Amino acid sequence: MSFKNFPMVPRVVFGRGSFDQLEEIISPKRKSDKAPFVYIVDDVFEGNNWLVGRIPLQYDDKIIFVSAKEEPKTILVDQFRDEIISEFDEIPSGIIGIGGGAMLDYAKAVALMLTNPGSSADYQGWDLVKYEGVYHVGIPTISGTGSEVSRTTVLTGPVRKLGMNSDYTPFDQVILDPELTKDAPKNQWFYTGMDCYIHCIESLTGTYLNAFSQSYGEKSLDLCREVFIEKDSVDEDSQDKLMMASWHGGMSIAYSQVGVAHAMSYGLSYLLGTKHGIGNCIAFNQLQEFYPDGVIEFKEMVMKHQIHIPENICKNLTDKEFDIMIDISLGLVPLWENALGKDWEKTITRKKLRSLYELM
Ligand code: ZN
Repeated sequence: MSFKNFPMVPRVVFGRGSFDQLEEIISPKRKSDKAPFVYIVDDVFEGNNWLVGRIPLQYDDKIIFVSAKEEPKTILVDQFRDEIISEFDEIPSGIIGIGGGAMLDYAKAVALMLTNPGSSADYQGWDLVKYEGVYHVGIPTISGTGSEVSRTTVLTGPVRKLGMNSDYTPFDQVILDPELTKDAPKNQWFYTGMDCYIHCIESLTGTYLNAFSQSYGEKSLDLCREVFIEKDSVDEDSQDKLMMASWHGGMSIAYSQVGVAHAMSYGLSYLLGTKHGIGNCIAFNQLQEFYPDGVIEFKEMVMKHQIHIPENICKNLTDKEFDIMIDISLGLVPLWENALGKDWEKTITRKKLRSLYELM
């Protein structure tokens, strides 16, 4: 038996307003005045002076605004890398992602692809990355994905939706400033928060569970319940707590795995472009047979906050399209094994997956 030697984020700052420490944190990491810091920022913040105006640009530092409307793609990672290499004489001093899970994943992937040859699609999988990336910093502006602590960067490529999962992937520095989440739209706040809730349920009910994962998962679940059940609306306390719930949820799955909702939501996302948070909600909403207590509680939270969870998004799909989703989903073996044990293939047949997708 071999146990995972899991890399953790070595440095983290937590606190309202801590974003203002960015300059003092990164300055010592600047290699020269020709080696810029490149910021990958959600384009919803374009023109938002409260946030963008506080980015400490110097020399040739550059902001790339990126849309989070679609899940991160290998083709865009390669394109950003190529643009950066052709624009600057030196490799950047660092890549800084500011936004939700998509921006954090882009930042991690671009940092790795600046030092690893070829296309990011070549590195989708486990431990394929050969060289350490450039210094990279993650600054979440919405809470729940756990990307700020994870050793992966989930990308949609030409043939698969899979992360660059490696020891080089985690951020060198994370800045957790809950105040940055204050303007997240309510639906987005909920869908992304539920990503965290679902991480906890899938981890805590999985066969991979161990004391490490359980300790983080239970704390995260408690925090999710404080935020989504005990409180009627968002306040500063719930912003702080959801940010830490995300962190703990990410730590929980780091040492276990996610489960059925994620395995199915990856299929939705690959075929239909459904974003991760809402895709998990759409899937989890129909998974009562696997997660009976979790789904009941989820539905309570949906009702309480009056959130719309889409249904019947698979209604008009063809057989071929269902098969594409089923292929993607069945490929995620560790997720199924965590959810249902070594004999998962006895219950999760193509027919069974088809019938579940038809409910979504
Ligand atoms: Zn997730």
